[in-house]
Amino acid sequence: MPQGMVIKSTGSWYAVAGDDKQVVMCRLRGKFRLEGIRTTNPVAVGDRVVFEMEPGKDTALITNIPPRTNLIIRKATRLSSAAHIIAANLDYVMLVATITQPRTSTGFIDRFLATAEAYHIPAVLVFNKIDLLETREGQEVLNHMSDIYRNAGYPVIHVSAYTGQNIDSLQQFLKDKVVLFSGHSGVGKSALINRLVPGLNLRTGAISDKHQKGKHTTTFAEAIALPDGGWLVDTPGIKEFGLYDLEKETLAQRFPEMRRLMPHCRFANCTHMHEPDCAVKKAVNDGALASSRYQNYLNMMLNDYSNDN
Ligand code: GDP
Ligand code: ZN
Repeated sequence: MPQGMVIKSTGSWYAVAGDDKQVVMCRLRGKFRLEGIRTTNPVAVGDRVVFEMEPGKDTALITNIPPRTNLIIRKATRLSSAAHIIAANLDYVMLVATITQPRTSTGFIDRFLATAEAYHIPAVLVFNKIDLLETREGQEVLNHMSDIYRNAGYPVIHVSAYTGQNIDSLQQFLKDKVVLFSGHSGVGKSALINRLVPGLNLRTGAISDKHQKGKHTTTFAEAIALPDGGWLVDTPGIKEFGLYDLEKETLAQRFPEMRRLMPHCRFANCTHMHEPDCAVKKAVNDGALASSRYQNYLNMMLNDYSNDN
């Protein structure tokens, strides 16, 4: 039976790109209960599905959903304990950030990366608008920020959607992968997508129409095919991505460079805040661990996440 990947979900219909690249509109057959979590949507973008064409029609029924390798969820509503699945089976989550116009705070970047760790999904950081950083000072800030995240173990890519600089490296990175694309409004996500997928504007307008109100196109995640193979998952629900699923007991483990140091703390249950002989604090003092990362860890330990910026 044919298989494919869900590229868009709008209520009870799912657009599925078959392994033969044809897109088929599918519905679910019967009821699916998946992985024991209460969800408001049984199938999400990125899900692999097995489907069966309906006799005499060009639509299909989803008959099976193989286990997911990962999924990202958010609470369906503030009061509900049910979850809404934003996307599944991601190879990477990509954060598009900017040093200037607007400046993405390290607090936001670090929460995003820690959340990706909690989901066990590799993360990549893309600094866009490098054309605005051609002064020596701009270069220094960009390199300093990039060093922090490369030292933590994350790939960092510098691009300019405006000049096209390094778009080929980004394309190379994305090739044949399923990558969730996110970042604050104004960092240039639409401009990057238009660079990566020429002609998309003309085809769907879904991305560039985002400022129009009341359009359903922007309330559902959507996978956008890359010309050289691979998918960009665009998710309007991503605002919550950086806020979910972080527990203080395990927060330090969500910082890979801290995770490596923790076995050297004197106390096994060290919180790296006030304990003596803490390998994490020592690394901060020695300059081996970026103080912004440590400070953001402390902020996350001490605050709730309501002051997002
Ligand atoms: P989005 O909200 O993340 O989708 O951001 P947009 O793609 O709408 O871009 C926001 C603004 O930044 C627009 O005015 C773009 O023209 C501008 N912009 C996007 N990419 C770049 C870039 O690489 N360099 C410069 N200088 N401006 C950019
Ligand atoms: Zn410690």
